[in-house]
Amino acid sequence: MSTFNIVTLPGDGIGPDIVREACKVLNKIGELYGHKFNITEKRMGGIAIDMDGTSLPQDTIDACLKSDAVLLGAVGGPKWDHLPNGDRPEKGLLGIRGALKLYANLRPAVLFKQLQHTSPLKPEIIGEGLDILVVRELTGGMYFGEKANSPAYDTTKPDAWASDLEKYSVYEIERILKTGFEAAQKRDHRLCCVHKANVLESSRLWRAVFERVKKDYPDVETSEMYVDNAAMQLVRNPRQFDVIVTSNIFGDILTDEASQVAGSIGMLASASLGAGTLGLYEPIHGSAPDIAGKNLANPIATILSLPLMFRYSLGLMKEADAIDKAINDVLDAGYRTGDIFTPGLNDESKKVGTKEMGDLIVKALKKI
Ligand code: NAD
Repeated sequence: MSTFNIVTLPGDGIGPDIVREACKVLNKIGELYGHKFNITEKRMGGIAIDMDGTSLPQDTIDACLKSDAVLLGAVGGPKWDHLPNGDRPEKGLLGIRGALKLYANLRPAVLFKQLQHTSPLKPEIIGEGLDILVVRELTGGMYFGEKANSPAYDTTKPDAWASDLEKYSVYEIERILKTGFEAAQKRDHRLCCVHKANVLESSRLWRAVFERVKKDYPDVETSEMYVDNAAMQLVRNPRQFDVIVTSNIFGDILTDEASQVAGSIGMLASASLGAGTLGLYEPIHGSAPDIAGKNLANPIATILSLPLMFRYSLGLMKEADAIDKAINDVLDAGYRTGDIFTPGLNDESKKVGTKEMGDLIVKALKKI
């Protein structure tokens, strides 16, 4: 029997509703496979501001650092939008990523075949669904590079200026490329490095490091693409991609594009990883305050964070496949939460709430 220490950070809005359902799935996997998941709940975000006076209490950081993996719901809401002291729920999110030294963001863009019609792309382009993984560098590039500007942002002066430095070291590029290659080895063994080496010096370094690192992964088929072409190819022929690895700013843009191609926001999860196996797993959507506590949120994005956690932090591959299969079976049986329900296409009697969707997935789980 293996024991794993999992910290949950339900956060705000629908966060507690959806994390509760994911915990039910976690416990059922424990039962089926004989694992023990020690689940510890901690506060982060708006709830932590209310109860602890800070969006990220030290106690939460300490627990996460000692854990095997962290499952996050979502943070934020109108209640905390205008705080006088400048602390915001989202500061907790940036803080925990920093404290855990997470530098790689893995964003799968998966379109289940049952929800094909929710993609804005034509059926002949999207085919039998979609499964792309975008690996985005998270701590470098111009978001964190040196910032400068002329003394005043005087928009009437044509020579006033501002700049953000796009700077990457070999070390930073190499470690994110390795994350990408290792992910490709767990998938379809294809990796595309996206850059803009025809224009940017920093991208030329990316390309040079890529040429060296790819020799260590002969089992992975590689390609390169300029970012403007990649943005176009994602809507023209998205199925050509398996893993895309790219810089912080390019990844920020491409992950949002890929998530739209994949349809519903309630179905997509993400992982943030560092040098070891510890990772932070979360749905890509926010705290949806409009539907919080009403049994309306789709818990599938959060439940899909678990297969990512199992594959990238805990090494539980079969268990990950079992969750994917259970979700597929529940969708095949026609069950839908409101956000993925299409009137006229789906059966009204199979429209379910947050809790019912969680229960259905737990019931569908089988050992494989
Ligand atoms: P949002 O993702 O919370 O909601 C956008 C829309 O999608 C809403 O109509 C919502 O009801 C719906 N939605 C989102 N998740 C859903 C789910 N699981 N099931 C069904 N419907 C779902 O984005 P927003 O409205 O821009 O932001 C709300 C709050 O969340 C803000 O305070 C924002 O700062 C915060 N936020 C947090 C994170 C995070 O914690 N990682 C990410 C984005 C936004």
